[in-house]
Amino acid sequence: AGAGRAPAARPGVMEISAYVGGASGAAGAARTVKLSSNECAWGPSPKAVEAFEAASKKLYRYPDGGAADLRAAIARRFGLDASRIVCGAGSDEIISLLCQAYLAPGDEALYSAHGFLMYRISTLAAGGVPVTAPETDLHADVDALLAKVTDRTRIVFLANPNNPTGTYLPAAEVRRLHAGLRPDILLVLDAAYAEFVRRNDYEAGIEMVATSENVVMTRTFSKLYGLAGLRVGWAYCPEGVADVLNRVRGPFNVNLPAQAAAVAALADTGWADKVATETIRLRGLAAERLAALGLTVTPSEGNFLLVHFPVTAGRTAQDADAFLQREGVIVRRMEGYGLPGALRISIGTEEETAACLDAVARFVEGWG
Ligand code: PMP
Repeated sequence: AGAGRAPAARPGVMEISAYVGGASGAAGAARTVKLSSNECAWGPSPKAVEAFEAASKKLYRYPDGGAADLRAAIARRFGLDASRIVCGAGSDEIISLLCQAYLAPGDEALYSAHGFLMYRISTLAAGGVPVTAPETDLHADVDALLAKVTDRTRIVFLANPNNPTGTYLPAAEVRRLHAGLRPDILLVLDAAYAEFVRRNDYEAGIEMVATSENVVMTRTFSKLYGLAGLRVGWAYCPEGVADVLNRVRGPFNVNLPAQAAAVAALADTGWADKVATETIRLRGLAAERLAALGLTVTPSEGNFLLVHFPVTAGRTAQDADAFLQREGVIVRRMEGYGLPGALRISIGTEEETAACLDAVARFVEGWG
């Protein structure tokens, strides 16, 4: 007891940099426009808020450990088998549970170079080894991924569309990836941004899960449904994977008001449709305006844009970020993703998006 050293964590743990979310305020700015976390600018359906408030009267009760109502609501909404749905405290928890359940020490989880940050964190936390494959023009590259498969590969993560790039992989390519994997490798299709895709050749993964034993699709209530603060996500799984996840998850992993709000959010399809339509409209306008300013924007199917800045001193992404912060606009810097030349800008309301773009325009005009 007393002074000395704290017990050492397992080696992989110390390779993790603790996740740091986007800043939530700008010091000194009159008001803040927060476009740093790909949240829903319009918030949740008022019906979800009502359900949350009603549920808050029952906080002394444990939630339904099986999330039966929520799974039934998801199953109805998407035409799925409720017994193969597993809910989590955000899809982050599902990712973490998959790593815990499927990675033994030294086993590898594979994903694209600019894949979602949680893949690395959850892999290391589980004692696994993160392996990345190069991309083609910031798009996941099926051949590059398949070339990195080894005897130790146990999980392949594919965010489709991907965060932070916004890029998507057509269904035929996803199927080609799946066809190239051994059946003992789990393919995790992370469809957090599925509702924002407007491409005919896209599939979130429902069909593939229905017809394969080794494909899982993850979804979230944090983006389209505006419930990021409640932490609700879900996975659609083959029976065997659902069984495994139900063994490793905590018994009450999705809290009571979160379950109630998510059920109500799903039922309000009008609200969700409005959010999706408006996000996609503003995404298009924002991309056009940024391009007109001379900036390169990666084509995005998410609720955000990845914007690339010049390397010239005074014009870099870091300079832009500092300028935007002084103007009260918070966006996400990308050093942590290995993209130091870019900023990720979430689509906000029309007013928020305009405020951000006006500020970017002033920054660019300052180049003279
Ligand atoms: N996957 C991707 C690709 C994401 O961008 C995010 C959110 N940043 C998540 C999963 C996790 O979302 P949540 O835990 O809020 O469901």
